[in-house]
Amino acid sequence: MRKYTFVILLSLSSLLAGAQTLSPTVKAFVKVDAPVIALTHVRVIDGTGAAAREDQTIILSKGKIESVGDAASANVPKDVQVLDLQGDTVIPGLVGMHDHMFYPKGYAVFGEMATSFPRLYLAGGVTTIRTTGTLEPYTDLELKKSIDAGQTPGPKMHVTGPYLEGKGSWAIQMHQLSGPDDAAKTVNYWLDEGVDNFKAYMFITRGELKAAIDAAHKRGAKVTGHLCAVTFREAADLGIDDLEHGLFVDTEFQAEKKPDECPGFGDDPVGMAKLDVNSGPLYDMIQYLVQHHVAMTSTLPVFEMGSFAGRPTVQKRVLDALSPDARTAWLANRIHVESTEYLQKNYASDHSPWPAAFEKELEFEYAFAKSGGLLLAGLDPTGMGGVIAGFGDQREVELLVEGGFTPLEAIRIATYNGAQYLGELDRIGTIAPGKQADLVVIKGDPSKKIEDIENVETVFKDGIGYDSAKLIESVRGMVGLQ
Ligand SMILES: [Zn+2]
Repeated sequence: MRKYTFVILLSLSSLLAGAQTLSPTVKAFVKVDAPVIALTHVRVIDGTGAAAREDQTIILSKGKIESVGDAASANVPKDVQVLDLQGDTVIPGLVGMHDHMFYPKGYAVFGEMATSFPRLYLAGGVTTIRTTGTLEPYTDLELKKSIDAGQTPGPKMHVTGPYLEGKGSWAIQMHQLSGPDDAAKTVNYWLDEGVDNFKAYMFITRGELKAAIDAAHKRGAKVTGHLCAVTFREAADLGIDDLEHGLFVDTEFQAEKKPDECPGFGDDPVGMAKLDVNSGPLYDMIQYLVQHHVAMTSTLPVFEMGSFAGRPTVQKRVLDALSPDARTAWLANRIHVESTEYLQKNYASDHSPWPAAFEKELEFEYAFAKSGGLLLAGLDPTGMGGVIAGFGDQREVELLVEGGFTPLEAIRIATYNGAQYLGELDRIGTIAPGKQADLVVIKGDPSKKIEDIENVETVFKDGIGYDSAKLIESVRGMVGLQ
């Protein structure tokens, strides 16, 4: 009963969100706004994984997709706004599944980017996000209200509750649960406040995690985790819905692992690289997660940063978005983690173990998806910096292709799969008649060259087209500050 009330309330609020008037701040970024819009002669990648269709016409009406079909036979009504998009591609709005509103400020403290990140997500083609853990839950909730009311430019938000963290955490901004009762109490409190999902963190114990999952499920909310003290298999047994980051953070193959304890920093890149995705314990774990319907969120950009010397390529757009201090800190961090001194101190070697671990992570995610697991895509704008809202979501799709997925499969993971997990596939996630007009207009053809996904021109959210370049320009030098 309670579950149904929750669902009805959710759909009511999204109906109300449709009947919005935009504030001057939002209007400043609007490029296309008309009751009916025709996108003509465009290549369509619909998000299902189907091949790109050339020379299509999409009609948008009152915020929804009315029709999609061959441009030659399309019936374009008179007096509608026509955008001739020859040479361009339209994909569904990205559904970012590890898309925090915060950025690292150093010394394990994270700052809310309440101004820059909503704009950068939207500019990057991300029309729906799950915040996947928050350090300022009320800021995220107010931001969501403001975006839905048309007061602030940004994506549709699924606000995750504050991290469900156990005793011993390194993160000073997180509450440390005092036990299972506190876990259930915390979940219920934040559901009352308006969050719709939760993320468990590294030091949570099995007892606390079980209490949190049970309390959340009772009210129709899902739980994901970046775990360490609890292993992937244990979490699957407790009924968790999703696991963040993949194999990098699974501790079950570590010899020194003790129940309910997080060994070291949780990662073991040397041991991880030796595991085999096709047989033995890792293969068995993959099958176990698939059988238990546990999704997996890929966050490759945060791991690429720091794994490989010289990767990712330093992009001007990233440098431009960062504040001078954040820029200096990030570039210094890059040099530091590649230094012999750092490698010797941490790994007693001149060579980093991370490139091999990263390759294993790519293999793991590919094997998980090919075994029938639901793979989701996010960026995780944390780590040593330089992973930025929107740009990082695009990088995630490129890295999935590096991992063996075709561009069409990678786009599906970043659109359809996220919508499916969120229970919103009937409204978003693909390009089909009747769905919300959440679309990204891209110069080029990402089905042939995935890097074209960076060439976002216009982002439609509920049928309103936003100017990507203008959004990015408006937050120049702000990331790291606000
Ligand atoms: Zn995260």
